[in-house]
Amino acid sequence: MEEAKFYKSQNNSKVQCQLCSHFCTISPGQTGICRARKNEKGKLYSLVYGYPIALNIDPIEKKPLFHFLPGSLSYSLGTLGCNFRCANCQNWDISQATDIEAKIKYLDFIKPEEIIKSALTANCSSVAYTYNEPTIWTEYAMDIMKLARKNKLKNVWVSNGYMSPNCLNVILPYLDAANIDLKSMDEDFYLKNCEGKLAPVLDNLKTLKKEKIHTEITTLIIPSLSDNPKMLKKIAQFIVSQLGPETPWHISKFSPIISWKLKNLPETENKIIYEAYEIGRQAGLKYIYAGNMPGDDKENTYCPKCGQLAIKRLGYQIERLDKNGKCAKCGKILDILD
Ligand code: SF4
Repeated sequence: MEEAKFYKSQNNSKVQCQLCSHFCTISPGQTGICRARKNEKGKLYSLVYGYPIALNIDPIEKKPLFHFLPGSLSYSLGTLGCNFRCANCQNWDISQATDIEAKIKYLDFIKPEEIIKSALTANCSSVAYTYNEPTIWTEYAMDIMKLARKNKLKNVWVSNGYMSPNCLNVILPYLDAANIDLKSMDEDFYLKNCEGKLAPVLDNLKTLKKEKIHTEITTLIIPSLSDNPKMLKKIAQFIVSQLGPETPWHISKFSPIISWKLKNLPETENKIIYEAYEIGRQAGLKYIYAGNMPGDDKENTYCPKCGQLAIKRLGYQIERLDKNGKCAKCGKILDILD
């Protein structure tokens, strides 16, 4: 087990973890809410350092990032545990794992150097910290991120945005892009559905913008829980006013089959996604994308000025019709980082 870097000692051998906005106080022998950090005799340890449970070579579009190195490959890894308890989680088998200490005994220890070597061998342009919440394994992620930088690989976080301000400040110098879930603008949703809070997510998004990190937003539209048009308008308005109208917004279809708990809810209807798309457009967003709807024309990038098709997508396949990041018809810059 690797001793954690982000914690404070307290009385009676308790510790307070500083990594995410839960700031768990953990007694000896106990783990934090994420189940991935354990207090052993007054010291905090990361149970998952060096133990990725998922390692894949993914298209960057799968993160999803549509305006960052389009068409490139991202070496993607995730571990066990999560600081949220989202009832809709699609990776719940890893994110909501219990007794992580026992489970990692069946996993191979993989050094950060080996991750980088594999990423380079696979011709990836970036490393993605994804599948479960990377905040809870920041020590491991940071060691990989530093090596990635040295090897000219970009670093991408796919996150719920619930890191502590200190954690965010530590990763910022090595972070190139992020896809952050903005699940709702409703505090109650965050509390009941995720067992987290909204405010830290909004604060962290503003910091990412201030620090000029390429950020894309994902909202999963869950029938009856996060499909209210007024709430969706608030999300779109927040993105436009605080992050900028050029920020891509991914609005994704919910499926009960793959969700952790919400098996009784229906799949999101396409017309709800189209309505959300229109809400985003009216708020002033330039790039809105339907998620989990392969083949739908709302997965494509269109020029926000003249409407010309600029990037055509079919699932994770892309066809570039732009001219070096500009609209081929009117020349408008399309806010793509190549
Ligand atoms: S990462 Fe968050 S959930 Fe996990 S122990 Fe630390 S404060 Fe608690």
